Amino acid sequence: MPGKRVNLNLIKTHFSYTASELAKRLGIHKNTVRNWMRAGLPCLGGRPALFHGGTVRAFLSVRSAERRQPCPPGFFYCFRCRERRKPALGLVDYVDRENGAGNLTAICESCGAIMNRRAGRDRLGAIMPGLDVQIRQAAPTLVESLDPSLNCGSKEQRSA
Ligand SMILES: [Zn+2]
Repeated sequence: MPGKRVNLNLIKTHFSYTASELAKRLGIHKNTVRNWMRAGLPCLGGRPALFHGGTVRAFLSVRSAERRQPCPPGFFYCFRCRERRKPALGLVDYVDRENGAGNLTAICESCGAIMNRRAGRDRLGAIMPGLDVQIRQAAPTLVESLDPSLNCGSKEQRSA
């Protein structure tokens, strides 16, 4: 289910807000703000924790841009760079999950962070054209540690 669209203009760039103030202002649940924190929204500390308006706006616009435009073929979304990045050395690992769907992982060529993307096995050639995709057996402990919410292009995959 798609998340509610948030009106970023309701957040003032030079103000700081607590989670409840943000939630009230945006008409969302306070837990949504907690989810954003878990997804990497920086907080200024304090009790209750404060969030800088400008940072919240930047964080949410990156997220909605990702939702609108899935990564193009050959790219992953690197959450550390906050950019689409190519896999280092063109190396990509693929691990089967279920029903011909799986997880692609690669190292960001720019910062070295691990990047994830979901993919159907029969679409690997289209999603990672010309790249060296290593198909691996699922290793449950390793696969579990990859957070599926960090995948980009999930909308595109779901319709496949
Ligand atoms: Zn990176």
